[in-house]
Amino acid sequence: MKRLAILGSTGSIGTSTLDVVEGYPDRFQIVALAAGANLDRLEAQVRRFAPRLVSVGSEAGARELRRRLGRVPTEVVWGTAGLLQAAADADADLVVSAIVGAGGLLPTMRAVAAGKDVALANKESLVMAGHLLTAEARVRGTRVLPVDSEHSAIFQCLAGNGMGGVRRIVLTASGGPFRTRSRSAMASITPEEALKHPNWSMGQKITIDSATLMNKGLEVIEAHWLFGLPVDRVDVIVHPQSIIHSLVEYVDGSILAQLGVPDMRVPIQYALTYPERQPNMVPRLSLEQLTGLTFEAVDREKFPCLDLAYEAAAAGGSSAAVLNAANEVAVDRFLNRRIGFDEIPTLIRKALDAHPRRAVGSVEDVLEVDREVRRRLDDH
Ligand code: NAD
Ligand code: MG
Repeated sequence: MKRLAILGSTGSIGTSTLDVVEGYPDRFQIVALAAGANLDRLEAQVRRFAPRLVSVGSEAGARELRRRLGRVPTEVVWGTAGLLQAAADADADLVVSAIVGAGGLLPTMRAVAAGKDVALANKESLVMAGHLLTAEARVRGTRVLPVDSEHSAIFQCLAGNGMGGVRRIVLTASGGPFRTRSRSAMASITPEEALKHPNWSMGQKITIDSATLMNKGLEVIEAHWLFGLPVDRVDVIVHPQSIIHSLVEYVDGSILAQLGVPDMRVPIQYALTYPERQPNMVPRLSLEQLTGLTFEAVDREKFPCLDLAYEAAAAGGSSAAVLNAANEVAVDRFLNRRIGFDEIPTLIRKALDAHPRRAVGSVEDVLEVDREVRRRLDDH
């Protein structure tokens, strides 16, 4: 029996994870859940999965949840302290890190430091502090298992092959909803249009990141840390059907790919059952019905966020944390109609220029960079 803690349980990845867990009642047990403000969903999850511990965003939320749960014996905690308690829960074997954004860094780090294997969806933590997280995992002897579909694909294509034979990694990108839109029409994009992803249903922040292609930029950095390849050997190609989830090219010219229907339950399940595979109810990919798999280069002028990510990754130090913080602020402003879609990369560019690279030797250093970027952007 594997005992799980799920951070971000009410979100898109969190609920898909619980979907997977529900299919294997004698394999997984939920010992802790943590989420922000969606009390209705969290209450239903606690009643269904009976964790020993649940953490909520605010004190008022915790009080309300405790009242609603009545005689249910689950301990209710709240805030950053509660979240960290869930991340390091003594009973958990594996922590699913599925909070969105920079808020995922501390609990992910805490889980690794507590010796837990982590199924990582929160790519922002690796982007901000990949060197620290991977070093801590090495020291503690824990595994960071990818949940992101591209990284799960690469992880699967690498299985049984040493990194020595790898020439490059190729991440596939759907291209998002604006793949075929003209460059001149990018400025008028509304949040409603950007929130309609062609192939995946996900949380708001990653959906906007997918529309700007910053998601792919963050994933390049994520791949760099997960697989230890320099970013100039991590390439991106547009593949609008989202059937090939990514590829590994070996030095002998062989390319291995992982294919499947676009459904996050597959990579989530692989991270939960690794190294085993288990049958499931996810619809099968019908090869007979595949009408075509196509590829095209990214239009890097139309989607400048991708090159901003490569630039920040190559600069190293604090730069990727600056990129991440500025992107979170920009996405938030775009969703609140304070800036246009085309201003998202402009704002990130400004932040990168205003915060020259510096060394970051601890998570506290990284979080200080994150706060500085947000403070400075607030002043403008
Ligand atoms: P989401 O917005 O649907 O869910 C976020 C979850 O985090 C919610 O449960 C929310 O309550 C919780 N949360 C947010 N801030 C919190 C805080 N301060 N304290 C406690 N809980 C907090 O997001 P999502 O789409 O599920 O994405 C989660 C992460 O997974 C992101 O990093 C995203 O990039 C990554 N990811 C998502 C997908 C996907 O298909 N959705 C795919 C790959 C990677
Ligand atoms: Mg992905």
